[in-house]
Amino acid sequence: MDEKRSRQVIIAGAGVAGLTAALAFAERGYAVQVYEQAQRLEAVGAGLQLSPNATRILRQLGVLDRLLPAAVRPEAVVLKDARTLRQLARVPLGQAGESRWGAPYLVAHRADLQSALMARVAEMPDIRLTLGGRVEKIATGSHGVTATVVIGGKTAEEQGSLLVGADGVWSLVRALVDSKRMASPRSRFSGELAWRATVAADSSAGPAFAAIGAVDCVTTFLHPGFHMVAYPVSKGDAFNLVAFTKGERIADGWSGHADPSILAAAMRGTAPGLVKLVELAGPWLTWPLHTVEQTQPWTTSNGIVLIGDAAHAMTPFAAQGAAMAIEDAAMLANIMADFPTDPMESLRIWENLRRPRIAKVARRGAVNRLAWHAAGPVAVARNLFLTMRPSGKLAADLDWLYGWQQQKIIRR
Ligand SMILES: Cc1cc2nc3c(=O)[nH]c(=O)nc-3n(C[C@H](O)[C@H](O)[C@H](O)COP(=O)(O)OP(=O)(O)OC[C@H]3O[C@@H](n4cnc5c(N)ncnc54)[C@H](O)[C@@H]3O)c2cc1C
Repeated sequence: MDEKRSRQVIIAGAGVAGLTAALAFAERGYAVQVYEQAQRLEAVGAGLQLSPNATRILRQLGVLDRLLPAAVRPEAVVLKDARTLRQLARVPLGQAGESRWGAPYLVAHRADLQSALMARVAEMPDIRLTLGGRVEKIATGSHGVTATVVIGGKTAEEQGSLLVGADGVWSLVRALVDSKRMASPRSRFSGELAWRATVAADSSAGPAFAAIGAVDCVTTFLHPGFHMVAYPVSKGDAFNLVAFTKGERIADGWSGHADPSILAAAMRGTAPGLVKLVELAGPWLTWPLHTVEQTQPWTTSNGIVLIGDAAHAMTPFAAQGAAMAIEDAAMLANIMADFPTDPMESLRIWENLRRPRIAKVARRGAVNRLAWHAAGPVAVARNLFLTMRPSGKLAADLDWLYGWQQQKIIRR
């Protein structure tokens, strides 16, 4: 493979994972071609919590300054009992969190993050982004990787040394990578629905939101039948609400409409202020939560790698899916650039380092889900534990997650 092609990276997907990977590789001197199947990058999704492990990387890649004008720095993460609205725990964020973890904890609209990433991508001459380009086939050989891409009904081929599958939970690259090894490399419906609504601060739901005391914090309301996370976005001009219940699979795809009586039934016994907010806050969109089994490979020995949701979509109960995509992307580019003489070994090192971290974060999400939906004596014990634990200790419990930084890797 010639010198130029050995530093050519092809990325399928321009979500958080793909755009971050494009920036990280371009920063390390690679030429990057990103293909995104959508004709336009639209404002898909709703709010995102971006913890310091992610914002530290966004700062290194020159994205943070572009995001800050639209984002909010919440004062704390707060847990409340949904029946009484009583505060159970408070982890200080704001300046205290930034000093502790070395980068800010932010909440933002997903579209604001995407715009900030795009603005930075536009400044990088070594990144080419093709919208309306769907990666459909991949071939590998001594020349490296060849992606067959369909653009406006026409087929084109792109060659590079590495193909990064950043094509999300319904990844085609995953199916291509794994079709021989796995009976079903598809994602799996988790049995949970996310209910999302965005409330304008000056709408009739704005005062109802203020009344539940969540305007400057990330607040999670706990209940056996559901939990709800509430926080400000868009510089405080709007509020993001996301509730989680059990539910039926709707279809493959991000969002749709479901029967709001499911949410109402799950909220039985909830404080009237929260019920009123949910009534005023509609329309609610539902998102079926899909996960990807972590048993399947993320890399191949011939230059294909999966990152972000394509590799390991997880339930959002630790609010870390986008953060893990950002960590994946930055670490991949760093390891590939630090050890350019054996790229396939670099891919293996990356996968071996990422797996335990991703598994631990996914486990944390599962524990959160169990604890937040606890009932009866278990809920009483949980509330006692949370109210007794000093906020400094609660913050220290999160050091492994929010304080994460890539370690220097020494290869012998
Ligand atoms: C309810 C909910 C709340 C969440 N809250 C948080 C949170 O607070 N914090 C957090 O960190 N994470 C959160 N997440 C998770 C986070 O949204 C995802 O983990 C993250 O967006 C994944 O990014 P991605 O780039 O891997 O995938 P995606 O965002 O899905 O991007 C994939 C892209 O690839 C494109 N594509 C697909 N196939 C092809 C192809 N063949 N060729 C070219 N392009 C293709 C798609 O069009 C898409 O643009 C939440 C998720 C949900 C569902």
